Amino acid sequence: MTTAPLLLWFRRDLRLDDLPMLTAALATGRPLIPVFVLDAETEALGAAPKWRLGLGIGAFAARLVAAGSRLVLRRGAALPVLQALVAETGAAGVMWSRLYDPASRKRDEAVKAELRAQGLLAESHAGHLLHEPWTVETGTGGFYRVYTPYWKAVRGRPVAEAVAAPAALPAPEVWPASEALEAWRLGAAMNRGAAIVARHVQVGEAPALSRLQRFLDGPVKEYREARDFPAVDACSGLSENLAYGEIGPRRIWHAGWAAMERGAAGAEHFLKELVWREFSYHLMFHTPEITTRNWKPEWDAFPWQGDGEAAERWRRGMTGEPFVDAAMREMYVTGRMHNRGRMIVASYLTKHLMTDWRIGQAWFEDCLVDWDPAANAMGWQWAAGSGPDAAPYFRIFNPATQVEKFDGGAAYRKRFIAELSRQAGAEALAFFDAVPRSWGLSAAQRYPMPMVDLAEGRERALAAYANRGLQA
Ligand code: FAD
Repeated sequence: MTTAPLLLWFRRDLRLDDLPMLTAALATGRPLIPVFVLDAETEALGAAPKWRLGLGIGAFAARLVAAGSRLVLRRGAALPVLQALVAETGAAGVMWSRLYDPASRKRDEAVKAELRAQGLLAESHAGHLLHEPWTVETGTGGFYRVYTPYWKAVRGRPVAEAVAAPAALPAPEVWPASEALEAWRLGAAMNRGAAIVARHVQVGEAPALSRLQRFLDGPVKEYREARDFPAVDACSGLSENLAYGEIGPRRIWHAGWAAMERGAAGAEHFLKELVWREFSYHLMFHTPEITTRNWKPEWDAFPWQGDGEAAERWRRGMTGEPFVDAAMREMYVTGRMHNRGRMIVASYLTKHLMTDWRIGQAWFEDCLVDWDPAANAMGWQWAAGSGPDAAPYFRIFNPATQVEKFDGGAAYRKRFIAELSRQAGAEALAFFDAVPRSWGLSAAQRYPMPMVDLAEGRERALAAYANRGLQA
């Protein structure tokens, strides 16, 4: 009698290195059938993350073939698709790595309950985070609402060693049929931006590991000081790979920790940033409403502006505020935005333009190849002032002084705003090819005047806060 196989349901964990569910599955000695399901939750991804996911799936499928396995692609609601595959293959059950956003949790709980009710094995495993969100508790047994105590709580906490990828995966005797990745057209909504952003992505496990190595071999030493300067290549770039699970956080943590022990100056700061990601998941797990509602309910009284011309100029990188526009254009050209840029554009939209943070959040969700439900929600609510551990309401970044401080030589502005140079570079020009033609933008246009007076915008926001009695 042949041993019944197990289905491995991959989602945002497209790797073989350090994947707890894979370690558990291998320990059963069963043949393994890796599966990716294009369900409604996955279909709902924004244009750029969906396109990037398609690249990730392609790279992962090739990786599996090299390991003597395959990736079976199926489209449909997760539960019936998995049930059909169980019926076709005689599988003993399904394993997967946990996700923590509200929609995935709801889906996964239902899948687990139904499969178990059928007498099948249905197991979820860690893998996306260093610490499962419910395992980190305050002294009184609650969850953390502020980052620094959270960091202190996890800094010395043991993190299990990363487990190396297996050389091969045990294959079933017969493979179930797979749909074709191209037929899914995951990049359809990217239109002409895809060819441009493609120059900047680094897809798959091997590139993710090289990225980590490259960062720890060099930039980490200056990371603490240089990470705020958007023209400097000072950060790891790993958010893109973490978003699809092409590298695991434990691998990064241990490599960063080893660098710290070797005396690399910025390594501890790098670990702290990785823990910001953890913290965002901790918050999303304990307060899922962070993704949709003001985390501080008193902010519901704030007169947020809806979508309209102001938000549209912001989206188009045509506010006339060079730091804001450079950062927005960076996003269309590279699929990413420097962290300092994210803070500036979010502060500008929510404070100077008083626009609802959810409009910015949704736009990032559509445009970032490193889109992450927890980090994005936390980042936006932090910038708006409505979130946990947020910037105090009166802290309104002034993009003009920020740009002098962090882009004094104008390298970043010139890199992405063609209108500011006599001889615009390739990336500045690529912006006009990346954005929709319907925006009607061209490099020959004049750079616009600032759409709001910064001092007036600031006063207007401060008055609105004061009128509503909002506190820091
Ligand atoms: P590095 O500086 O090399 O940091 C290493 C890792 O630490 C990152 O890969 C990331 O996983 C984590 N990290 C660093 N800074 C933060 C942070 N502030 N919050 C949470 N995790 C952090 N990050 C995303 O991954 N996806 C998003 O959708 C996202 N949206 C954001 C929206 C706003 C408004 C703001 C202010 C921040 C957002 N961030 C988001 C956080 C941060 O900007 C990015 O994680 C960072 O720029 C990624 O670049 P890197 O990988 O080179 O980071």
